[in-house]
Amino acid sequence: QQEVGRAANAQTTLGVVAGDRIAIYLPMIPEAVVAMLACARIGAPHTVVFGGFSADALAARIADCDAKVVVTADGGFRRGRLSALKPAVDAAAARCPGVEHVLIVRRTDEPIEWHEGRDLWWHDVVGTASPVHAPEAFDSEHPLFIMYTSGTTGTPKGILHTTGGYLVQVASSFRTVFDHRPGDVYWCTADVGWITGHSYIVYGPLAAGATQVLYEGTPDAPYRGRWWEIIAQYGVTQFYTAPTAIRTAMKWGDDIPAAYDLTSIRVLGSVGEPINPEAHRWYRDTIGGGTAPIVDTWWQTETGAQMIAPLPGMLDAKPGAATAALPGIAIDVVDDSGASVPNGQDGYLVVREPWPAMLRTIWGDDARYIETYWSRWPGVYFAGDGARRDDDGHIWLLGRVDDVMNVSGHRLSTAEVESALVSHAAVAEAAVVAASDPTSGQAIVAFVILREDADADNPGIVAELRAHVGREIGAIAKPREVFVVPELPKTRSGKIMRRLLRDLAERRETGDATTLADTAVMAVITAAVAGAPDAKEA
Ligand code: AMP
Repeated sequence: QQEVGRAANAQTTLGVVAGDRIAIYLPMIPEAVVAMLACARIGAPHTVVFGGFSADALAARIADCDAKVVVTADGGFRRGRLSALKPAVDAAAARCPGVEHVLIVRRTDEPIEWHEGRDLWWHDVVGTASPVHAPEAFDSEHPLFIMYTSGTTGTPKGILHTTGGYLVQVASSFRTVFDHRPGDVYWCTADVGWITGHSYIVYGPLAAGATQVLYEGTPDAPYRGRWWEIIAQYGVTQFYTAPTAIRTAMKWGDDIPAAYDLTSIRVLGSVGEPINPEAHRWYRDTIGGGTAPIVDTWWQTETGAQMIAPLPGMLDAKPGAATAALPGIAIDVVDDSGASVPNGQDGYLVVREPWPAMLRTIWGDDARYIETYWSRWPGVYFAGDGARRDDDGHIWLLGRVDDVMNVSGHRLSTAEVESALVSHAAVAEAAVVAASDPTSGQAIVAFVILREDADADNPGIVAELRAHVGREIGAIAKPREVFVVPELPKTRSGKIMRRLLRDLAERRETGDATTLADTAVMAVITAAVAGAPDAKEA
């Protein structure tokens, strides 16, 4: 609280007033939480950008919300290695004239470029500020933060969350879904740069007065038992992570967690994508001692808080099902006409009534907000996910029904990766699909047509394109595979038939291609894919 008071006073000294936007680009260090809460205290909405995003992605977000201050660090640590952050901020700020100050936490002590007048050290400005700060009162609808997420176009959407309802729902869902009790030690492994970090590291648990673990490192450094060691060391009672991490731990072997005392665990949470039954059982048996309930929580950046989850002790979890809506949440599964489907059928997941933590708009684009979420069926929120109701009426998530991919629980749009690829001088056209992947859930597979003047025989082109996407968006967006093809399968109206590319990416016989403008094209593409050198990079 004292650090937050200092940071709030420091922001005020820099001229930040209620309503100004602050960008935060930090590693998983306490200052990230302090900076966010300081923003909340003075009513300046923050936009936290995941530290793995590139300078371009950072610049796009700073520019979209016109942030006045950027809070960053000289760098962070990844698997014990230094990784710089400040150069990306310098590159981004050079393109964003609205940035007045860059506040830098000293974390790695590496030399940085210094911009006199703009750059300030956190320890100079925050460290010397008074810890006494009177929090201002704001309307419950005052903007709290903007969280950028991928939609179906190349431009990320700034999802706007406000204060009162959001806090009510994240705090109450935190308490009920994790069965949080006094004395518990809770740990969520998400990064503060994602919505899970906002709602279930910062706002929910802290509003509920929870004691928690905040961890900067990765699960495999310095050794693969690191997470389990932390659970044993601090007596963690609730542990919240993503299926991709669970599947990775499963692959590493049971003997690793078996070496640690995990008996403190009472509830295990999962978020980000559907958890497959095998991973669900492994999680419960190996990490949860065979007894800990698994709360498979379905929600989104847009919903702000958990919406569907089996409350521990109240519902028997079904491995693979998110089960039932939380109290007060009006979830439904509907068909094309918007009518509820009966039990035993598939459809689209919708929310029929407003809920406290719902997004209020897309920053600067009310029309896109209405169009994206509220126009498919009037008055109904469309989540973009397919779902099935089983014979008990419980809900099973079936993945996205739009062009949004889910890689290790991170949301990326096909259009975003395609536009990164075509921004490379050698690429004329690109089509991106998600192929299922045993570890990351989905993996990005790209098909590109090179420009006529590009060197088609360049053996390094695939590696170069992958690196280019990494620079444009961030390492999480690098395609697993890139295939150079002479054509793309298009309908007569010019729409790329991704379904056929997905078949190729998953090494299946390609499906019905009769609606293609040129039906011979699939044979040409298939031959190019079959003849491609092993495009996977270690
Ligand atoms: P994000 O907004 O980036 O957190 O991504 C939200 C999307 O992740 C949802 O629309 C779902 O497709 C997926 N998702 C999140 N949690 C779950 C879950 N527990 N089960 C199935 N899908 C999930």
